[in-house]
Amino acid sequence: MIVKVLFILVMIVACVISEPRFTIGGIFYEDAEDLKQAFNVSAKTFEFNTLVAEVPKTGDFLHISDHVCEFAKAGVVGIIDGVGGQATELIQALCDTLEIPLITIQQNEFYTLDWTLINLYPSPIAFNNLLTQLVTKKEWKEFTLLYVKGYSMSNVYKLLEMSTQADLFTITVRELSGEDYRDVLTEAKESGYVNFVVDCPSAYLEPILSQAQQVSLMSDEHSYIFVSPDLFALDLSRYRYGGVNMTGFRLITLKSNNRLWDFTSSFNAESANILEAENLRTEEILIYDAVLMLSDALYKVNVTTQELDCEQYGSWAYGSTLLNFMKTSKSEGLTKSLNFDGFGQRNKVIVDVLELTPAGNQSIGTWDGDKLIISRSKILATEIGEETIMKNKTFKVLIATTPPYGFIKESIFKLEGNDRFEGFTIDLIGKLADMLGFNYEFELEADYGKLNNGSWTGMIYKIREDKADFAICDLTITKERQKGIDFSTPFMSLGISILYKEPSKQPPEMFSFMAVFSKEVWYYMVLVQLGLGVLMIFVGRISNKEWQNPVPCVEQPEELSNQFSLANSVWLIIGSVMQQGSEIAPIALAPRIITSVWWFFTMVMVASYVGTLVAFLIVEKNVMPFQTVDELYEQKHIAYGAKENGSTVDFFKYSTNPKYNEMHATMKRRGWIVSNNDIGVEKTEKGNFAFFMESTSIEYTKERHCDLIQVGELLDSKNYGIGMKKKSPYKRYIDSALLKLKESGEIQKLKEIWWKEKRDGGKCGKKQDKEQKQLGMKNMLGAFVVLGVGCPIGLVIAIIDMMWGVFKRSVKYNTTFKYELIEELKFALKFSGDIKPVKRPQREASEDAEKVDLERKDELMSLRSLRSERSSDTHRTHHSHGSSRHSPMSIAFARRREYS
Ligand code: GLU
Repeated sequence: MIVKVLFILVMIVACVISEPRFTIGGIFYEDAEDLKQAFNVSAKTFEFNTLVAEVPKTGDFLHISDHVCEFAKAGVVGIIDGVGGQATELIQALCDTLEIPLITIQQNEFYTLDWTLINLYPSPIAFNNLLTQLVTKKEWKEFTLLYVKGYSMSNVYKLLEMSTQADLFTITVRELSGEDYRDVLTEAKESGYVNFVVDCPSAYLEPILSQAQQVSLMSDEHSYIFVSPDLFALDLSRYRYGGVNMTGFRLITLKSNNRLWDFTSSFNAESANILEAENLRTEEILIYDAVLMLSDALYKVNVTTQELDCEQYGSWAYGSTLLNFMKTSKSEGLTKSLNFDGFGQRNKVIVDVLELTPAGNQSIGTWDGDKLIISRSKILATEIGEETIMKNKTFKVLIATTPPYGFIKESIFKLEGNDRFEGFTIDLIGKLADMLGFNYEFELEADYGKLNNGSWTGMIYKIREDKADFAICDLTITKERQKGIDFSTPFMSLGISILYKEPSKQPPEMFSFMAVFSKEVWYYMVLVQLGLGVLMIFVGRISNKEWQNPVPCVEQPEELSNQFSLANSVWLIIGSVMQQGSEIAPIALAPRIITSVWWFFTMVMVASYVGTLVAFLIVEKNVMPFQTVDELYEQKHIAYGAKENGSTVDFFKYSTNPKYNEMHATMKRRGWIVSNNDIGVEKTEKGNFAFFMESTSIEYTKERHCDLIQVGELLDSKNYGIGMKKKSPYKRYIDSALLKLKESGEIQKLKEIWWKEKRDGGKCGKKQDKEQKQLGMKNMLGAFVVLGVGCPIGLVIAIIDMMWGVFKRSVKYNTTFKYELIEELKFALKFSGDIKPVKRPQREASEDAEKVDLERKDELMSLRSLRSERSSDTHRTHHSHGSSRHSPMSIAFARRREYS
């Protein structure tokens, strides 16, 4: 018993708690079913009780005050006015007295500032601001304003003002009256007007649009701005492809708007028609926002309801507080931020700016309440996923069983229809169908098609004769085929190349050590050594320090000797190349720099050589009987072929290169043309057969036939496309869908799957390029550059050194700088004679001359005998400088140095 009582109590409490606390009233026209429905759905969402009053459309508002009084008696917390116009004035007056918050959802022509209400519909101020910026952005110099008779031009008065004040644009105003606007529209057309701003209630939109189309005012030269935010709630599909530019506004955002989806599904649940969220009209959405605002306010403001009697002029104590709270609370509704001014008007409204394109409605920017931000981004029709003319149609698609583009599926079950096939193009057409919403049926056709004696064959024939709609396989876009059919944008690029069996490996050749460096490198090495030899001799001769006293025990030697003879220089250079060194050691700075740079160069070259040599001596190489098509043409032992009736064989047939024509003739004569790629691959695998194939197919074959390789470069460059009838209306959809698939990497992904994974893909693994790469100039250039920089630096230093010596001598011997310089250069450039007399001042020289006169005679004999001995040795050229004198000891020393 106690349990029973407790259960009943709990149920009562639960009922009391779950029961909606407040009641709201709604006044609508009798036939405004959708508004009433929106009201009920919203009230249910926010847990309100509802009272609905209906008024006849005839304009008989006599009972309106009765309805409001009934609402007051029921203690409503707010009234939503779905009627608008003059009725609002009446409702507002009563609500004002009763202090019941009134929310309206329409633009009101009768509105005056002393009304106390909240209007959720964007105010004329909002539209004026938005329109002026939009027209300015569009840079219209003239436009026609179309407005409906009986409605004020409150939304466009700023535009009218602008046209009179500043000379920005010219406005022509045209009034649309009655139900037939064709005359006005035809007149506008004949006057050559192309830009229009249409300000009308949403009910007028459809007739205006259809009549404008009837009078051909909806072509690509015409642009419209519609003020009504309901434009894009209409079905505009029939205007989409005419090229007309239509701009309009939308108060809701469709993207990630869960509240909107919930509202739409609740709305649809109660309705016979199923609407998409974007097709909901502004008024329906604003009803939701009105109820939401009331709910938010009641959540924050504590109120108690009151039953009011109109007769007694009662008023609700919380009414004005609630109304003021709503005006300032800035809640977020379906129509974004709900902001009001002191008069309850919505001057700052956030609006999406939309444009109608062939791809459907596209958002091109936003109005943030103050500023228009245009962020036009092109979205493909396919991306929007809207209807295209291909939707729900069934097309016949020709395919071929050429791997990997099409295969017959292997299955233990009996497969039927499209299920029988798989492959790259099968998946590709599937993706296109998903995007464009069409159905398809495959038909096999092995012959891709060509022009044969004036008539088309294969796929091309079938498409031309309407026996099929599309052809998708490795169908090459060729000039000839393009005469017969249209092709989509290419989905794959390729070129002709040669498939050939990898030849057996050969052991390294006898002189493979020479192959480490390319010929170029060897030539440059020799050249550099010769150049460096000459440079070393010259630099050695002009560097003062290199002229050394040959007899160190004689303090004032008569001659100086130089170690940089031709033989010594060459020896020094070769010694370092061979990494053996030599006893020649440069003394002056310049030769030292040059020698160091040379040592560095040789170090790099030798290290690179040794490092690569090992690989060259052990790696066995493929010896290709041919590397290019020309070489294949020239040899007589290897057969070659291509697929019959394909673009590859046609390439040889119609080429401007006579060699290729001859190859085609040979292929034909010898029966080397095969009926499909599979046979070509089989023949190639048997050996001694080169198969001309498209590079994409070679790539596929190589992945599965590990002994086959591609030889040589591509002979041409072309593409695959989807074939369709000439001037096909589907081309633009297929093109944009293909582009989208390409840009998103989907086609590449499909290629990876069908080339590298499915059907034995990846069988051969990664083929290692075992062939050791020769070191060419490209690899060794750095070392040459170091040498090229170091040597000039050494040369410059040597020249400075020489100049300094020349200068000192000219001072010492009281001669001119020029004279000494010429003397020095003459001597240096002789490139012979590594003994140089020491020059002395005139006086000292004559004393010396006497002193040594006697000695000279003695030495003369021995000097002569030495000279004659040396002249027979061409490699050791010694030079006696003019009147120079040599002591036997010095000569002997110089010879020793030279030899070493
Ligand atoms: N893709 C070629 C065509 O469309 C077939 C293959 C070939 O000729 O290599 O004709």
